[in-house]
Amino acid sequence: MTRIAVIGAGPCGLAALHAFEQARLDGVDVGEVVCFEKQSDWGGLWNYTWRTGLDEHGDPVHGSMYRYLWSNGPKECLEFSDYTFDEHFGGPIPSFPPREVLYDYITGRAKKSNVRQFIAFDTAVRRVSFDDRTQMFSLALESWETGESAVRTETFDYVLVATGHFSTPNMPEYPGFASFPGRILHSHDFRDAVEFAGKNLLILGSSYSAEDIALQSRKYGARSVTIAYRNAPMGFGWPDGIDEVPALQHIAGRTAHFADGTSRDVDAIILCTGYQHHFPFIDPELRLTTTNNLYPAGLYKGVVWTANPKLIYLGMQDQFYTFTMFDAQAFVARDVVLGRLPLPGADAMAADVDAWLARYATVEDVPGQIDFQTDYVRDLMSMTDYPGFDLDMVRQHFVTWEHDKEDTITGYRDKSFASPCTGTVGPSPHTTWWDELDDGLARFLQR
Ligand code: FAD
Ligand code: NAP
Ligand code: MG
Repeated sequence: MTRIAVIGAGPCGLAALHAFEQARLDGVDVGEVVCFEKQSDWGGLWNYTWRTGLDEHGDPVHGSMYRYLWSNGPKECLEFSDYTFDEHFGGPIPSFPPREVLYDYITGRAKKSNVRQFIAFDTAVRRVSFDDRTQMFSLALESWETGESAVRTETFDYVLVATGHFSTPNMPEYPGFASFPGRILHSHDFRDAVEFAGKNLLILGSSYSAEDIALQSRKYGARSVTIAYRNAPMGFGWPDGIDEVPALQHIAGRTAHFADGTSRDVDAIILCTGYQHHFPFIDPELRLTTTNNLYPAGLYKGVVWTANPKLIYLGMQDQFYTFTMFDAQAFVARDVVLGRLPLPGADAMAADVDAWLARYATVEDVPGQIDFQTDYVRDLMSMTDYPGFDLDMVRQHFVTWEHDKEDTITGYRDKSFASPCTGTVGPSPHTTWWDELDDGLARFLQR
């Protein structure tokens, strides 16, 4: 029997399990699918943890999400076409849900398709290697299922890596950090904005984490937030108490000095400086090495490891699209594994990757990036029976969302979007995001 390993039970791993299960329900022999998840529950980043640093087993904590995290894009842009929000919640809900609501939705589909039975929890993959002679992968596993650490090896025909890439911080150092008399942390370790109430915060970075952590720190009471950008400011119309300054040069005591010659005293520093694709458990010849971008090289259709097509990576791209892209990838991965989607030869795969990379090199701005990832998802969806949805509508939603953010960075989460699956329009939230302090599911669903 063909054995298929899925590493990680976050949105990508769950999408893979779901895809295989759909085929099995159609009467296809899918072999044996086993998912290894090092945490004790599913959901990946959406499975909130208060922990920072090391987990209960001494491993680096996977979670990078924090309290009071609301979706930063409309939920209509990530809706599963085979499990709509209407189906899960029994009626329309607003377009920008907090974390717990999306966790409920993701795991709701996983419960419906009954895939928990395939997951070995508290089981970390320690090594992935490939034996040329047997053409099998060997996975070294450490498991705490019984409470104690137990090590074993299992062999597989195919491996799907779904371990995410927003968990290992990129941690730059600036002169003066060592003698700064306050806390310096990475966004990976940020949990509760209330910790910074009354403080003057310095944030480094100019992407989603910087934007969101700045806003919510201020929302939950920071006295001031200064965001220092390296290349270009985000340029949003920030509320009082937040502003952007040029790059940090050095820190002297608690005084931060910036490239324009100005300086400010700060109490804490949050490095919103992104993450590394860090997969030390995968043998070097199998290991994806890339920056965070929309088309990592070496992956046919963005998923199949061209140097060894029995190895598949899910969700390794930077993400406008999330859950729907993961689904589209998972269906392709499944059909490759099942032999329903024959792979072309190595040269043809390389040429396809090169063509996408050549196009990506011409992308100049955010609308171009949205179009690029839309066309990537469209290509994936043309290859399998993943149920269709109105992809052009989603593309337009992303463009509208970008404009909304430029209009009002504190108000964009109060807008409503139409579902590309059902047409349902999300109702306005009962409380505007800037005034809503409670991120719970019950509160969000109140009408
Ligand atoms: P993850 O969610 O990271 O899951 C990977 C899983 O693999 C984890 O459960 C982990 O424990 C497991 N794992 C890792 N290594 C091993 C190993 N060696 N052995 C066994 N198991 C392992 N997306 C949105 O759509 N909307 C948002 O609002 C949004 N907000 C975000 C906020 C933050 C702060 C971050 C960092 C990301 C956010 N994202 C958001 C993007 C996020 O990447 C995706 O939504 C999604 O979680 C990616 O799913 P994944 O399965 O690829 O990875
Ligand atoms: P990211 O998008 O990769 O951005 C990393 C940022 O770090 C960039 O702005 C980069 O600057 C900056 N940077 C890197 N090295 C630096 C250095 N040495 N000095 C100064 N700045 C440096 O990472 P991210 O913002 O953490 O986002 C990761 C993911 O999390 C995204 O998918 C995002 O959608 C998600 N997220 C979602 C939410 C939410 O609200 N739901 C919140 C946070 C994050 P340059 O721009 O100059 O290159
Ligand atoms: Mg930038």
